[in-house]
Amino acid sequence: MRTRMVAGNWKMNKTLQEGVELANQLKNDVKNPNCEVVIGTPFIHLATVAELVKGSAVKVAAENCADKDKGAYTGEVSAAMVASTGAEYCILGHSERRAYYHEDYEILKNKVELALANGLKVIFCIGEVKEERLENKQNEVVKAQLEGSVFHLSAEQWAQITLAYEPVWAIGTGLTATPEQAQEIHAFIRGLVAEKYGKQVADDTTILYGGSCNEKNAAELFACPDIDGGLIGGASLIAEKFEAIIAAR
Ligand code: PEP
Repeated sequence: MRTRMVAGNWKMNKTLQEGVELANQLKNDVKNPNCEVVIGTPFIHLATVAELVKGSAVKVAAENCADKDKGAYTGEVSAAMVASTGAEYCILGHSERRAYYHEDYEILKNKVELALANGLKVIFCIGEVKEERLENKQNEVVKAQLEGSVFHLSAEQWAQITLAYEPVWAIGTGLTATPEQAQEIHAFIRGLVAEKYGKQVADDTTILYGGSCNEKNAAELFACPDIDGGLIGGASLIAEKFEAIIAAR
């Protein structure tokens, strides 16, 4: 049985104090979830929030890590540093990092390897932009993203990977993929994993949907057989909404 998961991605929101308040509320409210619950926080929150939620049902993710091991890279945060905070996960390949910070397949490959080498589990994001969807190229886009950055991993390393399919046109736009659209491409992605690692591994791989998933549409999306949970941006910033999405899983 694969892990079901609801993961939040706070992005560049919340001061440290606001983040602690939100994490505290989640820790107190989320007692026996049906799924793994993860919150992705800015780097500066990680140590405090990881300590705060220790022993609770809530796990912590970084939203990024450096593509270099260590050294003279002013302003960067390494995977080892992330792991030293108590964070268990690292979100990599988010479309905002690909688009605004020019993270290409090779950079992401390095980041994934460093995250895994430092004991972090990776939530790896893939997904097409609007023009690619309009040209019906979504399948080839996600295939290239997987082949470019994660399909070189061993089966043992793959066990630490959670995939998040996030159509870029649905992120932060209020335009959610329909359950049919999402299920179709999730099944395609699982098929790619099966071709690469075998059916059992594919069956055990967690594939999240992300893109304007909220407390109103989560249940319908999560009911699809190949959608194992969600990566949640905007709705993860409000405890009640995030908790309703967790309850829907
Ligand atoms: C995201 O950025 O990962 C995301 C899914 O954002 P939103 O839920 O706000 O669309």
